[in-house]
Amino acid sequence: MATLPQPLLTRRADLIARLAEPRQYDIAIVGGGATGLGLALDAVARGFSVVLVESHDFAKGTSSRSTKLVHGGVRYLGQGNIGLVREALRERSTLLSNAPYLAQPLAFVLPSYKWWEKPFYGIGLTLYDALAGRAGLGKTEFLSRVETLALLPAAQPRGLKGGIKYWDGQFNDARLALALARTAALRGALLVNYCRAADLLYDSGKVAGLVCEDTLTGQRYRIQSRCVVNAAGVWVDELRQKDGAANGADGRRPTRPMVAPSQGVHIVVEREFLGGETALMVPKTADGRVLFAVPWLGKVILGTTDTPRHDLALEPLAFKEEIDFILTESARYLRRAPQRGDVKSIWVGLRPLVKPPDDEGDNTKGLSREHTVLVSRSGLVTVTGGKWTTYRAMAQDVLDVCAEKTLIEKRKGGVTEHLKLVGSDAADTAGHSICRPPGLHSYGSEQSLVLGLPGAQNMLCDGLSEAMVRFAARFEYAVTVEDVLARRSRLLFLDARLASTLAPTVGAILLQETGLDPQVSAFAALAQHYLCLPE
Ligand SMILES: Cc1cc2nc3c(=O)[nH]c(=O)nc-3n(C[C@H](O)[C@H](O)[C@H](O)COP(=O)(O)OP(=O)(O)OC[C@H]3O[C@@H](n4cnc5c(N)ncnc54)[C@H](O)[C@@H]3O)c2cc1C
Repeated sequence: MATLPQPLLTRRADLIARLAEPRQYDIAIVGGGATGLGLALDAVARGFSVVLVESHDFAKGTSSRSTKLVHGGVRYLGQGNIGLVREALRERSTLLSNAPYLAQPLAFVLPSYKWWEKPFYGIGLTLYDALAGRAGLGKTEFLSRVETLALLPAAQPRGLKGGIKYWDGQFNDARLALALARTAALRGALLVNYCRAADLLYDSGKVAGLVCEDTLTGQRYRIQSRCVVNAAGVWVDELRQKDGAANGADGRRPTRPMVAPSQGVHIVVEREFLGGETALMVPKTADGRVLFAVPWLGKVILGTTDTPRHDLALEPLAFKEEIDFILTESARYLRRAPQRGDVKSIWVGLRPLVKPPDDEGDNTKGLSREHTVLVSRSGLVTVTGGKWTTYRAMAQDVLDVCAEKTLIEKRKGGVTEHLKLVGSDAADTAGHSICRPPGLHSYGSEQSLVLGLPGAQNMLCDGLSEAMVRFAARFEYAVTVEDVLARRSRLLFLDARLASTLAPTVGAILLQETGLDPQVSAFAALAQHYLCLPE
Protein backbone atom coordinates (compact mmCIF):
# COMPACT_ATOMS: atom_id res chain seq x y z
CA MET A 1 0.00 0.00 0.00
CA ALA A 2 1.36 3.45 -0.91
CA THR A 3 2.32 5.79 1.95
CA LEU A 4 0.05 8.83 1.91
CA PRO A 5 0.56 12.25 3.44
CA GLN A 6 -1.49 12.87 6.60
CA PRO A 7 -4.97 14.10 5.68
CA LEU A 8 -6.31 17.47 6.77
CA LEU A 9 -7.23 17.61 10.47
CA THR A 10 -10.81 18.66 11.20
CA ARG A 11 -10.38 19.86 14.79
CA ARG A 12 -13.51 21.79 15.75
CA ALA A 13 -11.68 24.53 17.64
CA ASP A 14 -9.64 25.29 14.50
CA LEU A 15 -12.73 25.36 12.27
CA ILE A 16 -14.52 27.73 14.63
CA ALA A 17 -11.44 29.96 14.92
CA ARG A 18 -11.38 30.28 11.12
CA LEU A 19 -15.11 31.02 11.08
CA ALA A 20 -14.54 33.87 13.53
CA GLU A 21 -11.86 35.52 11.36
CA PRO A 22 -13.14 38.76 9.80
CA ARG A 23 -13.01 38.33 6.02
CA GLN A 24 -15.24 38.44 3.00
CA TYR A 25 -15.95 35.18 1.16
CA ASP A 26 -17.01 34.91 -2.46
CA ILE A 27 -19.65 32.27 -1.68
CA ALA A 28 -21.34 31.23 1.57
CA ILE A 29 -23.35 28.01 1.32
CA VAL A 30 -26.14 26.95 3.66
CA GLY A 31 -26.56 23.16 3.90
CA GLY A 32 -24.06 20.31 3.83
CA GLY A 33 -25.93 17.69 1.80
CA ALA A 34 -25.13 16.56 -1.74
CA THR A 35 -26.18 19.90 -3.22
CA GLY A 36 -24.24 22.21 -0.90
CA LEU A 37 -21.12 20.05 -0.74
CA GLY A 38 -21.03 19.52 -4.50
CA LEU A 39 -21.31 23.27 -4.94
CA ALA A 40 -18.57 23.95 -2.38
CA LEU A 41 -16.18 21.69 -4.28
CA ASP A 42 -17.00 23.12 -7.69
CA ALA A 43 -16.69 26.70 -6.45
CA VAL A 44 -13.41 26.22 -4.60
CA ALA A 45 -12.00 24.27 -7.56
CA ARG A 46 -12.72 27.36 -9.69
CA GLY A 47 -10.70 29.46 -7.27
CA PHE A 48 -13.54 31.11 -5.31
CA SER A 49 -13.27 31.50 -1.55
CA VAL A 50 -15.97 29.33 0.02
CA VAL A 51 -17.55 28.80 3.42
CA LEU A 52 -20.27 26.20 4.05
CA VAL A 53 -22.33 25.82 7.22
CA GLU A 54 -24.39 22.75 8.08
CA SER A 55 -26.84 22.92 10.97
CA HIS A 56 -26.38 19.27 11.97
CA ASP A 57 -23.88 16.91 10.40
CA PHE A 58 -22.87 16.62 6.76
CA ALA A 59 -25.46 14.42 4.99
CA LYS A 60 -27.69 14.32 8.09
CA GLY A 61 -30.68 15.19 5.88
CA THR A 62 -31.84 13.46 2.72
CA SER A 63 -28.33 12.83 1.44
CA SER A 64 -27.70 9.85 3.76
CA ARG A 65 -31.10 8.27 3.10
CA SER A 66 -31.13 7.66 -0.65
CA THR A 67 -31.68 4.28 -2.34
CA LYS A 68 -27.89 4.39 -2.95
CA LEU A 69 -28.23 4.38 -6.73
CA VAL A 70 -26.01 6.35 -9.06
CA HIS A 71 -28.42 6.21 -11.91
CA GLY A 72 -29.87 7.77 -14.99
CA GLY A 73 -33.34 7.04 -13.63
CA VAL A 74 -34.86 4.35 -15.84
CA ARG A 75 -38.31 5.28 -14.60
CA TYR A 76 -37.99 8.89 -15.82
CA LEU A 77 -37.84 7.44 -19.33
CA GLY A 78 -41.47 6.43 -18.79
CA GLN A 79 -42.22 10.12 -18.11
CA GLY A 80 -40.48 11.02 -21.38
CA ASN A 81 -37.82 13.03 -19.56
CA ILE A 82 -34.98 12.20 -21.93
CA GLY A 83 -32.87 15.28 -21.07
CA LEU A 84 -32.85 14.44 -17.37
CA VAL A 85 -31.90 10.83 -18.06
CA ARG A 86 -29.11 11.74 -20.46
CA GLU A 87 -27.60 14.24 -18.03
CA ALA A 88 -27.78 11.78 -15.14
CA LEU A 89 -26.17 9.01 -17.22
CA ARG A 90 -23.27 11.31 -18.01
CA GLU A 91 -22.91 12.23 -14.34
CA ARG A 92 -23.14 8.56 -13.37
CA SER A 93 -19.96 7.75 -15.26
CA THR A 94 -18.13 10.84 -13.94
CA LEU A 95 -18.94 9.89 -10.36
CA LEU A 96 -17.93 6.27 -10.85
CA SER A 97 -14.56 7.35 -12.12
CA ASN A 98 -13.88 10.08 -9.54
CA ALA A 99 -14.74 8.06 -6.42
CA PRO A 100 -14.33 4.41 -7.50
CA TYR A 101 -14.24 3.01 -3.96
CA LEU A 102 -17.55 4.73 -3.07
CA ALA A 103 -19.49 4.45 -6.35
CA GLN A 104 -19.48 1.38 -8.58
CA PRO A 105 -21.41 -0.31 -11.39
CA LEU A 106 -24.13 -2.70 -10.28
CA ALA A 107 -26.11 -5.21 -12.33
CA PHE A 108 -29.90 -5.07 -11.96
CA VAL A 109 -32.31 -7.79 -12.99
CA LEU A 110 -35.92 -7.14 -13.75
CA PRO A 111 -37.62 -10.53 -13.31
CA SER A 112 -40.53 -11.16 -15.65
CA TYR A 113 -43.62 -13.10 -14.68
CA LYS A 114 -45.79 -12.05 -17.63
CA TRP A 115 -45.07 -12.76 -21.30
CA TRP A 116 -45.14 -9.12 -22.37
CA GLU A 117 -42.73 -7.79 -19.73
CA LYS A 118 -39.49 -8.82 -21.45
CA PRO A 119 -40.19 -7.15 -24.82
CA PHE A 120 -41.91 -4.15 -23.22
CA TYR A 121 -39.23 -3.27 -20.66
CA GLY A 122 -36.50 -4.49 -23.00
CA ILE A 123 -37.29 -1.66 -25.41
CA GLY A 124 -37.02 0.95 -22.65
CA LEU A 125 -33.76 -0.46 -21.36
CA THR A 126 -32.25 -0.64 -24.81
CA LEU A 127 -33.09 3.05 -25.19
CA TYR A 128 -31.42 3.60 -21.80
CA ASP A 129 -28.24 1.97 -23.17
CA ALA A 130 -28.43 4.10 -26.29
CA LEU A 131 -28.80 7.31 -24.27
CA ALA A 132 -25.77 6.35 -22.17
CA GLY A 133 -23.70 5.88 -25.33
CA ARG A 134 -20.04 5.67 -24.40
CA ALA A 135 -20.93 6.24 -20.76
CA GLY A 136 -22.74 2.88 -20.76
CA LEU A 137 -21.70 0.38 -18.09
CA GLY A 138 -22.76 -2.79 -19.93
CA LYS A 139 -25.31 -3.94 -22.46
CA THR A 140 -28.86 -4.84 -21.53
CA GLU A 141 -29.37 -8.62 -21.84
CA PHE A 142 -32.44 -10.82 -22.04
CA LEU A 143 -32.22 -13.72 -19.60
CA SER A 144 -33.80 -17.15 -19.52
CA ARG A 145 -35.49 -18.36 -16.36
CA VAL A 146 -32.35 -20.33 -15.41
CA GLU A 147 -30.07 -17.34 -16.01
CA THR A 148 -32.38 -15.10 -13.98
CA LEU A 149 -32.29 -17.47 -11.00
CA ALA A 150 -28.50 -17.75 -11.27
CA LEU A 151 -28.24 -13.97 -10.72
CA LEU A 152 -31.16 -13.71 -8.30
CA PRO A 153 -31.02 -17.02 -6.43
CA ALA A 154 -33.64 -15.92 -3.90
CA ALA A 155 -36.17 -14.60 -6.44
CA GLN A 156 -39.63 -16.19 -6.46
CA PRO A 157 -39.33 -19.07 -8.97
CA ARG A 158 -43.11 -19.68 -9.20
CA GLY A 159 -44.37 -18.32 -12.51
CA LEU A 160 -40.97 -16.84 -13.43
CA LYS A 161 -40.53 -16.60 -17.19
CA GLY A 162 -37.09 -14.95 -17.42
CA GLY A 163 -35.64 -11.53 -16.89
CA ILE A 164 -33.75 -8.54 -18.24
CA LYS A 165 -30.36 -7.53 -16.92
CA TYR A 166 -29.22 -3.93 -17.15
CA TRP A 167 -26.49 -1.82 -15.54
CA ASP A 168 -26.55 1.20 -13.27
CA GLY A 169 -24.43 2.30 -10.33
CA GLN A 170 -24.59 2.18 -6.55
CA PHE A 171 -22.80 4.21 -3.91
CA ASN A 172 -22.23 4.94 -0.26
CA ASP A 173 -24.08 8.26 -0.06
CA ALA A 174 -22.98 9.64 3.32
CA ARG A 175 -19.36 8.68 2.80
CA LEU A 176 -19.44 10.30 -0.62
CA ALA A 177 -20.73 13.47 1.04
CA LEU A 178 -17.77 13.37 3.43
CA ALA A 179 -15.37 12.78 0.55
CA LEU A 180 -16.79 15.89 -1.18
CA ALA A 181 -16.42 17.92 2.03
CA ARG A 182 -12.86 16.75 2.64
CA THR A 183 -11.82 17.32 -0.98
CA ALA A 184 -13.25 20.85 -0.88
CA ALA A 185 -11.47 21.48 2.44
CA LEU A 186 -8.16 20.30 0.99
CA ARG A 187 -8.55 23.00 -1.65
CA GLY A 188 -9.14 25.68 0.95
CA ALA A 189 -12.89 25.78 1.58
CA LEU A 190 -14.04 26.16 5.17
CA LEU A 191 -16.80 23.69 6.05
CA VAL A 192 -18.36 23.64 9.50
CA ASN A 193 -20.94 21.16 10.75
CA TYR A 194 -23.17 21.84 13.75
CA CYS A 195 -23.40 25.44 12.61
CA ARG A 196 -26.84 26.78 11.64
CA ALA A 197 -27.52 29.68 9.32
CA ALA A 198 -29.79 31.70 11.61
CA ASP A 199 -30.22 34.87 9.59
CA LEU A 200 -29.10 36.83 6.58
CA LEU A 201 -27.04 40.02 6.50
CA TYR A 202 -28.00 42.82 4.12
CA ASP A 203 -26.27 45.82 2.67
CA SER A 204 -28.57 48.34 0.95
CA GLY A 205 -31.27 45.67 0.58
CA LYS A 206 -28.93 43.12 -0.96
CA VAL A 207 -27.82 39.91 0.74
CA ALA A 208 -24.28 40.44 2.02
CA GLY A 209 -23.69 37.41 4.20
CA LEU A 210 -25.21 35.46 7.03
CA VAL A 211 -25.35 35.06 10.76
CA CYS A 212 -24.62 31.53 11.86
CA GLU A 213 -24.76 29.82 15.20
CA ASP A 214 -22.46 27.12 16.54
CA THR A 215 -25.17 24.74 17.76
CA LEU A 216 -22.80 23.12 20.27
CA THR A 217 -22.07 26.38 22.12
CA GLY A 218 -24.76 28.84 21.01
CA GLN A 219 -22.04 31.30 19.91
CA ARG A 220 -23.01 33.41 16.87
CA TYR A 221 -20.77 34.53 13.99
CA ARG A 222 -21.25 37.03 11.18
CA ILE A 223 -20.01 35.87 7.80
CA GLN A 224 -19.59 38.45 5.04
CA SER A 225 -20.03 37.04 1.57
CA ARG A 226 -20.62 38.37 -1.93
CA CYS A 227 -23.07 35.61 -2.61
CA VAL A 228 -25.19 33.38 -0.32
CA VAL A 229 -26.53 30.08 -1.65
CA ASN A 230 -29.36 28.40 0.18
CA ALA A 231 -28.89 24.64 -0.40
CA ALA A 232 -30.86 23.47 2.61
CA GLY A 233 -32.75 20.64 0.86
CA VAL A 234 -36.38 20.34 1.94
CA TRP A 235 -35.66 23.11 4.46
CA VAL A 236 -34.86 25.85 1.88
CA ASP A 237 -38.15 27.64 2.46
CA GLU A 238 -37.19 28.65 6.01
CA LEU A 239 -34.42 30.98 4.81
CA ARG A 240 -36.44 32.07 1.77
CA GLN A 241 -39.26 33.14 4.05
CA LYS A 242 -36.87 35.07 6.31
CA ASP A 243 -35.48 36.77 3.24
CA GLY A 244 -38.98 37.53 1.95
CA ALA A 245 -40.05 39.01 5.29
CA ALA A 246 -36.95 41.20 5.48
CA ASN A 247 -36.96 42.28 1.86
CA GLY A 248 -40.22 41.29 0.21
CA ALA A 249 -41.65 43.40 -2.58
CA ASP A 250 -44.69 44.52 -0.64
CA GLY A 251 -44.01 42.94 2.76
CA ARG A 252 -47.65 41.76 2.95
CA ARG A 253 -47.63 38.49 1.05
CA PRO A 254 -45.61 35.68 2.63
CA THR A 255 -43.10 33.96 0.33
CA ARG A 256 -44.71 30.86 -1.19
CA PRO A 257 -42.98 27.59 -0.33
CA MET A 258 -41.19 26.05 -3.31
CA VAL A 259 -40.73 22.55 -1.86
CA ALA A 260 -43.35 19.80 -1.71
CA PRO A 261 -41.68 17.17 0.48
CA SER A 262 -42.28 13.54 -0.34
CA GLN A 263 -41.24 10.77 2.00
CA GLY A 264 -39.36 7.66 0.92
CA VAL A 265 -38.95 4.68 3.25
CA HIS A 266 -36.36 1.90 3.08
CA ILE A 267 -36.11 -1.22 5.18
CA VAL A 268 -32.98 -3.32 5.58
CA VAL A 269 -32.88 -7.11 5.88
CA GLU A 270 -30.16 -9.79 5.78
CA ARG A 271 -28.48 -10.43 2.43
CA GLU A 272 -29.87 -13.99 2.23
CA PHE A 273 -33.28 -12.57 1.32
CA LEU A 274 -31.85 -11.58 -2.07
CA GLY A 275 -28.70 -13.72 -2.40
CA GLY A 276 -25.86 -12.79 -4.73
CA GLU A 277 -24.60 -9.35 -5.74
CA THR A 278 -27.26 -8.38 -8.29
CA ALA A 279 -30.06 -5.94 -7.52
CA LEU A 280 -33.70 -6.73 -8.24
CA MET A 281 -35.90 -4.10 -9.82
CA VAL A 282 -39.68 -4.20 -10.06
CA PRO A 283 -40.72 -1.50 -12.55
CA LYS A 284 -44.39 -1.54 -11.65
CA THR A 285 -45.75 -2.77 -8.35
CA ALA A 286 -49.44 -3.53 -7.78
CA ASP A 287 -50.10 0.20 -7.34
CA GLY A 288 -47.79 1.39 -10.09
CA ARG A 289 -44.63 2.23 -8.15
CA VAL A 290 -41.02 1.09 -8.55
CA LEU A 291 -39.48 -1.25 -6.00
CA PHE A 292 -35.80 -2.10 -5.57
CA ALA A 293 -33.99 -4.78 -3.60
CA VAL A 294 -30.37 -3.63 -3.56
CA PRO A 295 -27.41 -5.52 -2.07
CA TRP A 296 -25.48 -2.95 -0.02
CA LEU A 297 -22.68 -3.30 2.54
CA GLY A 298 -23.53 -6.90 3.31
CA LYS A 299 -27.28 -6.39 3.70
CA VAL A 300 -30.25 -5.78 1.39
CA ILE A 301 -32.13 -2.50 1.07
CA LEU A 302 -35.83 -2.76 0.14
CA GLY A 303 -37.70 0.32 -0.99
CA THR A 304 -38.94 2.84 -1.57
CA THR A 305 -42.17 4.78 -1.17
CA ASP A 306 -43.37 8.20 -2.31
CA THR A 307 -45.74 9.72 0.22
CA PRO A 308 -46.57 13.43 0.43
CA ARG A 309 -45.70 14.92 3.78
CA HIS A 310 -46.52 18.31 5.19
CA ASP A 311 -44.09 18.56 8.08
CA LEU A 312 -40.32 18.70 7.74
CA ALA A 313 -39.14 16.42 10.54
CA LEU A 314 -35.43 15.76 10.67
CA GLU A 315 -36.16 12.13 11.54
CA PRO A 316 -39.52 11.33 9.95
CA LEU A 317 -41.20 8.05 10.90
CA ALA A 318 -42.47 5.55 8.35
CA PHE A 319 -46.23 5.11 8.06
CA LYS A 320 -47.67 1.64 8.66
CA GLU A 321 -48.97 1.51 5.06
CA GLU A 322 -45.45 2.15 3.74
CA ILE A 323 -43.95 -0.76 5.68
CA ASP A 324 -46.86 -2.98 4.65
CA PHE A 325 -46.38 -1.96 1.02
CA ILE A 326 -42.65 -2.78 0.99
CA LEU A 327 -43.08 -6.11 2.79
CA THR A 328 -46.09 -7.21 0.71
CA GLU A 329 -44.49 -6.30 -2.61
CA SER A 330 -41.15 -7.88 -1.64
CA ALA A 331 -43.00 -11.06 -0.73
CA ARG A 332 -44.34 -11.28 -4.29
CA TYR A 333 -40.85 -11.31 -5.80
CA LEU A 334 -38.73 -13.11 -3.18
CA ARG A 335 -38.72 -16.83 -2.40
CA ARG A 336 -38.72 -16.13 1.34
CA ALA A 337 -40.92 -13.22 2.33
CA PRO A 338 -39.28 -10.86 4.82
CA GLN A 339 -41.35 -10.40 7.97
CA ARG A 340 -41.48 -7.49 10.39
CA GLY A 341 -39.16 -9.38 12.75
CA ASP A 342 -36.50 -9.57 10.02
CA VAL A 343 -36.13 -5.79 9.74
CA LYS A 344 -32.69 -4.58 10.88
CA SER A 345 -33.22 -0.88 10.30
CA ILE A 346 -35.79 1.49 8.80
CA TRP A 347 -34.87 4.90 7.47
CA VAL A 348 -36.91 7.62 5.94
CA GLY A 349 -35.80 10.44 3.67
CA LEU A 350 -37.61 13.53 2.41
CA ARG A 351 -37.38 14.33 -1.31
CA PRO A 352 -37.08 18.03 -2.01
CA LEU A 353 -39.48 18.05 -4.94
CA VAL A 354 -39.97 21.43 -6.52
CA LYS A 355 -43.55 22.67 -6.64
CA PRO A 356 -44.91 24.35 -9.73
CA PRO A 357 -45.94 27.85 -8.59
CA ASP A 358 -49.68 27.17 -8.95
CA ASP A 359 -49.72 23.67 -7.47
CA GLU A 360 -51.49 23.12 -4.18
CA GLY A 361 -52.05 19.43 -4.80
CA ASP A 362 -50.72 16.31 -3.14
CA ASN A 363 -49.49 14.36 -6.14
CA THR A 364 -45.73 14.31 -5.52
CA LYS A 365 -45.13 11.36 -7.87
CA GLY A 366 -45.79 13.69 -10.78
CA LEU A 367 -43.50 16.51 -9.60
CA SER A 368 -40.15 17.32 -11.15
CA ARG A 369 -37.00 15.47 -10.12
CA GLU A 370 -35.00 18.22 -11.82
CA HIS A 371 -33.45 20.95 -9.82
CA THR A 372 -34.44 24.59 -9.67
CA VAL A 373 -32.28 27.64 -9.04
CA LEU A 374 -34.08 30.80 -7.87
CA VAL A 375 -32.67 34.22 -7.09
CA SER A 376 -34.70 36.48 -4.83
CA ARG A 377 -35.07 40.24 -5.19
CA SER A 378 -32.35 40.71 -2.60
CA GLY A 379 -29.98 38.26 -4.30
CA LEU A 380 -30.45 35.17 -2.13
CA VAL A 381 -29.74 32.18 -4.39
CA THR A 382 -31.75 29.03 -3.63
CA VAL A 383 -31.14 25.63 -5.20
CA THR A 384 -33.15 22.51 -4.55
CA GLY A 385 -34.60 19.41 -6.22
CA GLY A 386 -32.50 17.14 -8.42
CA LYS A 387 -30.86 13.90 -7.44
CA TRP A 388 -27.66 12.88 -5.70
CA THR A 389 -26.35 11.61 -9.04
CA THR A 390 -26.61 15.07 -10.62
CA TYR A 391 -24.99 17.14 -7.87
CA ARG A 392 -22.22 18.34 -10.21
CA ALA A 393 -24.69 19.55 -12.82
CA MET A 394 -26.54 21.44 -10.10
CA ALA A 395 -23.33 23.11 -8.93
CA GLN A 396 -22.55 24.15 -12.48
CA ASP A 397 -26.00 25.73 -12.91
CA VAL A 398 -25.82 27.57 -9.59
CA LEU A 399 -22.45 29.11 -10.44
CA ASP A 400 -23.72 30.09 -13.89
CA VAL A 401 -26.74 31.83 -12.34
CA CYS A 402 -24.57 33.58 -9.71
CA ALA A 403 -22.35 34.89 -12.49
CA GLU A 404 -25.33 35.96 -14.63
CA LYS A 405 -26.62 37.98 -11.68
CA THR A 406 -23.09 39.45 -11.28
CA LEU A 407 -22.88 38.21 -7.71
CA ILE A 408 -19.54 36.63 -8.62
CA GLU A 409 -17.51 36.70 -11.80
CA LYS A 410 -17.83 34.04 -14.49
CA ARG A 411 -15.07 31.46 -14.34
CA LYS A 412 -14.43 28.41 -16.48
CA GLY A 413 -16.56 25.39 -15.53
CA GLY A 414 -15.98 21.66 -15.89
CA VAL A 415 -13.20 21.75 -13.29
CA THR A 416 -14.51 18.84 -11.24
CA GLU A 417 -15.09 16.51 -14.16
CA HIS A 418 -11.77 14.74 -13.64
CA LEU A 419 -11.19 15.72 -10.04
CA LYS A 420 -10.60 12.59 -7.97
CA LEU A 421 -12.13 12.72 -4.52
CA VAL A 422 -10.16 12.02 -1.36
CA GLY A 423 -9.40 8.30 -1.04
CA SER A 424 -9.57 7.65 -4.78
CA ASP A 425 -5.91 6.96 -5.46
CA ALA A 426 -6.07 4.55 -8.38
CA ALA A 427 -3.51 2.06 -7.05
CA ASP A 428 -5.53 1.05 -4.03
CA THR A 429 -9.18 1.11 -4.99
CA ALA A 430 -9.63 -1.83 -7.37
CA GLY A 431 -11.97 -4.60 -6.26
CA HIS A 432 -13.59 -2.79 -3.33
CA SER A 433 -17.18 -3.89 -3.68
CA ILE A 434 -19.88 -1.81 -2.00
CA CYS A 435 -22.00 -4.97 -1.86
CA ARG A 436 -19.54 -6.42 0.65
CA PRO A 437 -19.97 -5.96 4.41
CA PRO A 438 -18.48 -2.72 5.75
CA GLY A 439 -14.77 -2.57 6.40
CA LEU A 440 -11.57 -0.97 5.27
CA HIS A 441 -12.75 -0.91 1.65
CA SER A 442 -14.89 2.12 2.55
CA TYR A 443 -11.66 4.11 3.01
CA GLY A 444 -10.24 3.54 -0.49
CA SER A 445 -6.61 4.55 -0.66
CA GLU A 446 -6.69 5.90 2.91
CA GLN A 447 -6.79 2.40 4.39
CA SER A 448 -3.15 2.56 5.42
CA LEU A 449 -3.84 5.76 7.35
CA VAL A 450 -6.60 4.04 9.31
CA LEU A 451 -4.36 1.05 9.96
CA GLY A 452 -1.68 3.38 11.32
CA LEU A 453 -3.93 4.77 14.09
CA PRO A 454 -4.18 3.39 17.64
CA GLY A 455 -6.75 0.59 17.95
CA ALA A 456 -6.49 -0.67 14.37
CA GLN A 457 -6.72 -4.26 15.61
CA ASN A 458 -9.42 -3.54 18.18
CA MET A 459 -12.62 -4.44 16.34
CA LEU A 460 -15.76 -3.04 18.03
CA CYS A 461 -17.84 -5.21 15.67
CA ASP A 462 -17.32 -6.66 12.19
CA GLY A 463 -16.21 -3.79 9.97
CA LEU A 464 -15.75 -1.13 12.67
CA SER A 465 -12.50 -0.67 14.57
CA GLU A 466 -11.42 1.71 17.31
CA ALA A 467 -9.03 3.24 14.74
CA MET A 468 -11.95 4.03 12.40
CA VAL A 469 -13.64 5.99 15.19
CA ARG A 470 -10.40 7.91 15.80
CA PHE A 471 -10.06 8.55 12.06
CA ALA A 472 -13.63 9.90 11.98
CA ALA A 473 -12.89 12.28 14.87
CA ARG A 474 -9.53 13.48 13.56
CA PHE A 475 -10.11 13.75 9.83
CA GLU A 476 -13.84 13.36 9.08
CA TYR A 477 -15.49 16.07 11.21
CA ALA A 478 -17.20 13.56 13.55
CA VAL A 479 -18.36 14.98 16.88
CA THR A 480 -21.14 12.67 18.09
CA VAL A 481 -21.76 8.94 18.30
CA GLU A 482 -24.44 9.43 15.66
CA ASP A 483 -21.92 11.00 13.27
CA VAL A 484 -19.79 7.87 13.53
CA LEU A 485 -22.44 5.16 13.63
CA ALA A 486 -24.85 6.67 11.10
CA ARG A 487 -22.65 8.32 8.51
CA ARG A 488 -18.88 7.44 8.85
CA SER A 489 -19.67 3.79 9.47
CA ARG A 490 -23.22 3.03 8.25
CA LEU A 491 -24.10 0.72 11.12
CA LEU A 492 -27.26 2.57 12.16
CA PHE A 493 -28.63 2.06 8.64
CA LEU A 494 -27.57 -1.59 8.52
CA ASP A 495 -28.34 -2.89 11.99
CA ALA A 496 -29.79 -0.34 14.40
CA ARG A 497 -29.84 -2.75 17.35
CA LEU A 498 -26.14 -3.53 17.04
CA ALA A 499 -25.37 0.17 16.57
CA SER A 500 -27.19 0.93 19.80
CA THR A 501 -25.08 -1.52 21.80
CA LEU A 502 -21.85 0.06 20.55
CA ALA A 503 -22.80 3.63 21.42
CA PRO A 504 -21.10 3.84 24.87
CA THR A 505 -17.80 2.42 23.54
CA VAL A 506 -17.78 4.72 20.52
CA GLY A 507 -18.70 7.64 22.79
CA ALA A 508 -15.74 6.98 25.09
CA ILE A 509 -13.27 6.95 22.17
CA LEU A 510 -14.77 10.13 20.72
CA LEU A 511 -14.59 11.92 24.06
CA GLN A 512 -10.92 11.01 24.33
CA GLU A 513 -10.29 12.37 20.83
CA THR A 514 -12.32 15.58 20.85
CA GLY A 515 -13.14 16.46 24.47
CA LEU A 516 -16.69 17.22 23.27
CA ASP A 517 -19.93 15.59 24.46
CA PRO A 518 -20.49 12.62 22.11
CA GLN A 519 -24.24 12.58 22.95
CA VAL A 520 -24.50 8.89 23.76
CA SER A 521 -28.02 8.88 25.17
CA ALA A 522 -29.42 10.85 22.24
CA PHE A 523 -28.09 8.12 20.01
CA ALA A 524 -29.79 5.39 22.02
CA ALA A 525 -33.14 7.13 21.43
CA LEU A 526 -32.40 7.58 17.73
CA ALA A 527 -31.54 3.90 17.28
CA GLN A 528 -34.98 3.00 18.69
CA HIS A 529 -36.46 5.25 16.03
CA TYR A 530 -34.67 3.24 13.32
CA LEU A 531 -36.24 0.07 14.73
CA CYS A 532 -39.74 1.45 15.09
CA LEU A 533 -42.28 -0.50 13.03
CA PRO A 534 -45.61 1.35 13.20
CA GLU A 535 -48.51 -1.05 13.95
C1 LIG B 1 -36.13 8.10 -0.42
C2 LIG B 1 -35.17 8.76 -1.36
C3 LIG B 1 -34.39 7.99 -2.21
C4 LIG B 1 -33.49 8.63 -3.08
N1 LIG B 1 -32.69 7.86 -3.85
C5 LIG B 1 -31.81 8.42 -4.67
C6 LIG B 1 -30.91 7.61 -5.40
O1 LIG B 1 -30.89 6.38 -5.27
N2 LIG B 1 -30.05 8.24 -6.24
C7 LIG B 1 -30.03 9.58 -6.41
O2 LIG B 1 -29.26 10.07 -7.22
N3 LIG B 1 -30.85 10.39 -5.68
C8 LIG B 1 -31.71 9.84 -4.81
N4 LIG B 1 -32.54 10.62 -4.04
C9 LIG B 1 -32.42 12.08 -4.15
C10 LIG B 1 -31.26 12.62 -3.32
O3 LIG B 1 -31.05 11.88 -2.15
C11 LIG B 1 -31.53 14.08 -2.96
O4 LIG B 1 -31.87 14.78 -4.12
C12 LIG B 1 -30.32 14.75 -2.34
O5 LIG B 1 -29.79 13.99 -1.29
C13 LIG B 1 -30.72 16.14 -1.83
O6 LIG B 1 -29.59 16.73 -1.28
P1 LIG B 1 -29.64 18.18 -0.66
O7 LIG B 1 -28.26 18.56 -0.32
O8 LIG B 1 -30.38 19.08 -1.58
O9 LIG B 1 -30.52 18.02 0.65
P2 LIG B 1 -30.11 17.46 2.07
O10 LIG B 1 -29.26 16.26 1.96
O11 LIG B 1 -31.33 17.32 2.89
O12 LIG B 1 -29.18 18.60 2.67
C14 LIG B 1 -29.67 19.80 3.16
C15 LIG B 1 -28.91 20.11 4.42
O13 LIG B 1 -29.20 21.43 4.84
C16 LIG B 1 -29.11 21.46 6.24
N5 LIG B 1 -29.79 22.67 6.73
C17 LIG B 1 -31.12 22.92 6.77
N6 LIG B 1 -31.35 24.15 7.26
C18 LIG B 1 -30.13 24.68 7.54
C19 LIG B 1 -29.70 25.93 8.10
N7 LIG B 1 -30.58 26.89 8.47
N8 LIG B 1 -28.38 26.14 8.28
C20 LIG B 1 -27.48 25.20 7.91
N9 LIG B 1 -27.84 24.00 7.39
C21 LIG B 1 -29.14 23.75 7.19
C22 LIG B 1 -29.77 20.16 6.67
O14 LIG B 1 -29.36 19.75 7.96
C23 LIG B 1 -29.28 19.21 5.58
O15 LIG B 1 -28.14 18.46 5.96
C24 LIG B 1 -33.41 10.03 -3.13
C25 LIG B 1 -34.20 10.80 -2.26
C26 LIG B 1 -35.05 10.17 -1.37
C27 LIG B 1 -35.85 10.97 -0.43
